[in-house]
Amino acid sequence: MNSLRFELLREALGRKAVQVNSENRPADEYAKYVFNREKMQKYLSKYTYKALTESIDKGLPLDRSIADGVATGMKQWAIELGATHYTHWFQPLTGGTAEKHDAFIEPTGNGNVLEEFSGKLLVQQEPDASSFPNGGLRNTFEARGYSAWDPSSPAFVVGDTLCIPTVFISYTGEALDYKTPLLRSTNALNKAATAVCNYFDENVQKVISYLGWEQEYFLVDDALYAARHDLVMTGRTLMGHESAKNQQLEDHYFGAIPTRVLAFMTDLENECLKLGIPVKTRHNEVAPNQFELAPVYEEINLANDHNLLLMSVMKKVARRHNFRVLLHEKPFKGVNGSGKHNNWSMGTDTGVNLFSPGKNAVENLQFITFLVNTMMAVYKHNGLLKASISSATNAHRLGANEAPPAIVSTFLGKQISEVLDKLEKASADDVIHFDEKSALRLGVAHLPEVLLDNTDRNRTSPFAFTGNRFEFRAVGSSANCADAMLTLNTAVASQLAQFKVEVDSLIEDKMPKEKAIVTVVKSLISKCKAIHFEGNGYSDEWKAEAAKRGLDCETSVPVIFDNYLKPESLAIFENCGVLSHAEVESRCEVKWETYTKKIQIESRVLGDLAMNHIVPVASGYRAVLLDNVFKLGSVFSKDETETMSRQDKRIIKEISTHIDFITEQVEAMIEARSKANAIAAEREKAIAYHDKVVPMMEEIRSHIDKLELIVDDRMWTLPKYRELLFIR
Ligand code: ADP
Ligand code: MG
Repeated sequence: MNSLRFELLREALGRKAVQVNSENRPADEYAKYVFNREKMQKYLSKYTYKALTESIDKGLPLDRSIADGVATGMKQWAIELGATHYTHWFQPLTGGTAEKHDAFIEPTGNGNVLEEFSGKLLVQQEPDASSFPNGGLRNTFEARGYSAWDPSSPAFVVGDTLCIPTVFISYTGEALDYKTPLLRSTNALNKAATAVCNYFDENVQKVISYLGWEQEYFLVDDALYAARHDLVMTGRTLMGHESAKNQQLEDHYFGAIPTRVLAFMTDLENECLKLGIPVKTRHNEVAPNQFELAPVYEEINLANDHNLLLMSVMKKVARRHNFRVLLHEKPFKGVNGSGKHNNWSMGTDTGVNLFSPGKNAVENLQFITFLVNTMMAVYKHNGLLKASISSATNAHRLGANEAPPAIVSTFLGKQISEVLDKLEKASADDVIHFDEKSALRLGVAHLPEVLLDNTDRNRTSPFAFTGNRFEFRAVGSSANCADAMLTLNTAVASQLAQFKVEVDSLIEDKMPKEKAIVTVVKSLISKCKAIHFEGNGYSDEWKAEAAKRGLDCETSVPVIFDNYLKPESLAIFENCGVLSHAEVESRCEVKWETYTKKIQIESRVLGDLAMNHIVPVASGYRAVLLDNVFKLGSVFSKDETETMSRQDKRIIKEISTHIDFITEQVEAMIEARSKANAIAAEREKAIAYHDKVVPMMEEIRSHIDKLELIVDDRMWTLPKYRELLFIR
């Protein structure tokens, strides 16, 4: 009899909400742990403050001559908050963040120590980073990587450590992280978008790209979590029969938040606010034990830092509440997985959201220009954008009937779709005669009023226009948003640059500016039609239709990554100065390698659990039944025994079939793994794992899940779905 599972269940059931008392109102402590402008002003000299903020505003590198001044002020501020250590906080390609802590103390040589932190240490570090993935960019003998401060993202204190957001680059200047290309992509977009904005308003000097992420996650009681080795090792359950009640009743979505969870959320929000993360929205999600948290949107680079920080803070806070946070895209089969909707927009330094319809026809032409160019960019690079959100973990979500389909398309809603239709059909001269009548006919001038109705949502679209922004819904819950955002920024930047070339050439041929813009916009509307889809993205008809339209319909993740190496992808990354050919190649290698490793680990864990948890328990139960049958035979007559033991015998046979299958398949899976491991090329190895190992894992699981239904519940060692998902 297995008593551990029941002990853990009792422990989980007995928990009470952990109330966290705070004397202050959360808003009063906003950004308490952030070295923001207010703190800069207080802790830096007037001169240093001015020089620093100027270089931040202009996006310039930090002037070395003020670095010491900045470091001294920053250190003083951090020490007053109790910090004893500092770290360069960076985003290696492993995902998540990396940090190596150093104490402030420096020996003085006479047996004492001083708390030191110089400008040199602030600005640049040389962590020995030879074991971070680099896809062949660095050989171990030249393992030096540099981390360098990104002053556009403010330093912050977590616990006893001053964290300095940094980029992470190789000795030869190649990006080894996500932040570097993200920053480069915002520059590229700024440049290209500002040039296009200047057609409409010469005062625009800068275009900023914004991100508002919505983070979905699951919570599981930590006692139950600890007993699920698959959750601990891989972040998802590799087995487990669906619970009879799941999300069918749709009673969890937006329902009352359970008290234990609410206490966790409140605690988490307070921590976030102190770190300057402007969290705002919290609610239950569709699946049981699934929740969402969203902040107010911010400039992309900062928003992304905040998302990464949030993910690590939430893991810590969850422990205080005896929860574990699951950020995996698909922790449980049969219920919804988790995504991270990326709400993306562009705004000017003059305060205009380029995706908001304006007050007059000129502003609306600008709005339509940016909208249509974005659609064109998504059209041209739909495969690449899909690659940017693809991973071994997100693969469980895409293409399933609950999340964005594995085909990228854009949704605009009825009103905007109509406007584009009319524009496409109208003559350019009609459109630029901004008289009341033609404007009315085209519906362009009246966009703002029409748009007040913003309820037109299509949840099946991976890339939807939602009133004043696009929502890239396909991003995975555990991902670093940077991958998706830098790809989108690059695609749009490159398209806008192309747009400008076309418009300028018409202007050169003496076409009036407005007419030139309208002419090119009209041609883009016609060209990118294939990406525009308003229907049900989950339907089979759409899959067939999308293939006909020439959209990327590939579903194998390792093959989807090929999109990175297409000439048109390499060209936009290179032309926009975001990633060189070598950098793209190395990233692709890392993606294949990571894919392989994730599946490899899952497959090993599944094999182990199958052989040392499932099979022994099932055969133990079979022994009980056999014993039963045997004893019945010794007490009753043959005829009586025949009827009485019929059911037991049936189950004995059934169990035997499953055990045989599982044992054989686990052997075969080990064989398939070693074959795959022998392949040298990362791409082919990943494909072997995808094609050979993954299907075996699915089959083994299905037999295990059937055993779970027939084996005596008291003997089953692993917490079941109904326990993991419904006990809180
Ligand atoms: P919904 O679930 O309806 O999509 P939420 O309120 O959960 O909406 O999340 C919307 C997210 O979009 C928030 O993070 C919000 O700050 C962000 N957002 C709103 N406007 C913009 C914008 N112009 N650009 C980028 N993000 C935005
Ligand atoms: Mg949303």
